[in-house]
Amino acid sequence: MSYQSGRHFLQIPGPTNVPDRILRAIDRPTIDHRGPEFISLTKGLLRDIRGIFKTESRVVIITGSGTGAWEAALVNTLVAGDRVLMHETGQFSTLWRNLAERLGLSPDYIEGDWRHGADAARIEAALAEDKAHAIKAVCVVHNDTATGITSNVQNVRKAMDAVGHPALLLVDTISSLGSIDYKHDEWGVDVTVGGSQKGLMLPPGLSFNAISDKALAASESGGMTRSYWDWNDMIAANEGGSFPFTPATNMLYGLREAIDMLNEEGLDNVFARHVRHGEAARRAVTAWGLELQCLNPDEFSNALTAIRVPEGNSADALRKAVLENFDMSLGSGLGKVADKVFRIGHLGDFNDLTLTGALCGVEMGLGLAGIPHSTGGVAAAMDYLAAKRQSS
Ligand code: PLP
Repeated sequence: MSYQSGRHFLQIPGPTNVPDRILRAIDRPTIDHRGPEFISLTKGLLRDIRGIFKTESRVVIITGSGTGAWEAALVNTLVAGDRVLMHETGQFSTLWRNLAERLGLSPDYIEGDWRHGADAARIEAALAEDKAHAIKAVCVVHNDTATGITSNVQNVRKAMDAVGHPALLLVDTISSLGSIDYKHDEWGVDVTVGGSQKGLMLPPGLSFNAISDKALAASESGGMTRSYWDWNDMIAANEGGSFPFTPATNMLYGLREAIDMLNEEGLDNVFARHVRHGEAARRAVTAWGLELQCLNPDEFSNALTAIRVPEGNSADALRKAVLENFDMSLGSGLGKVADKVFRIGHLGDFNDLTLTGALCGVEMGLGLAGIPHSTGGVAAAMDYLAAKRQSS
């Protein structure tokens, strides 16, 4: 391939763009992971990462992608044969369900249409039927990255409480952490699963479990046979500022920088920025006359926008045109919506011009790919963003 001038536009919903500050932080000599400097780094990270999850309890940092943290959440708290209640919201709820099945768990999968989030009323009804409390965990994906749907975790908690069901609540925040407001403690979540490569603006490779006392107790007295994913080994080593194995030292430098950047901007400002960009992107979609994959405005994701192309058109052809002509990567449609949906990521290190630049690429690409649409999407987003600046 010949040299492409200018910066590649990485507008997939993760991995997201890694800011220069984080790249610089990672680009330092690796140190002794049992020495005093590292121990002080780890202790600071374990203290401060809790603020990102809004928890006072413990967070473990896993060397592994988000899938590893999904697995860790399940193997530490459940045993083969346990029933788990999961809700279909898109490809990521489906992949988590598949993983649970492979571990020998028995998922009750509440069917969804990939256009609505987790339905708390259906979760409540399923739990109400389970008089013997055979269901041991409820698993929900907060922000399904395949469909651009954000489920209401508070309502799921309320549904569990309404029927007094003791199941653990496990939530995937891989594409919402650091982008969409999330409160592990206040929402009564037992295990929150996070990842490094989205709102935290890091490369892929780290993931997290935030763990309630109830989930920790479940792991101490049970869980599956496990080794690498074991929380108890990890927590014991973390007490002294180390890990039970060689940690990803340089990624941890990056994590330090990422937490500092999020705190410098202020988490509330970070969330407000994502709200603004989500709304601007949706205004562009409306002006183009295209359809959002998510049908419920209360569940629109502010981390990404998943857009349907009109019947008979190819979303992949659009993505190809955009990549070849403008050097921009858009997210593909996954699973059931392959080639029907394309996704614009607007999470992580992002500003108004990154968004309008990305929308320009999409609007030009729609024309080049021959996808029926109206022009004016970029203008609609610009008007909204400028008006927001004026009013702030
Ligand atoms: N859950 C969600 C919501 C995701 O977006 C992803 C990846 O994009 C995963 C889980 C799986 O994480 P990973 O690909 O880092 O293993």
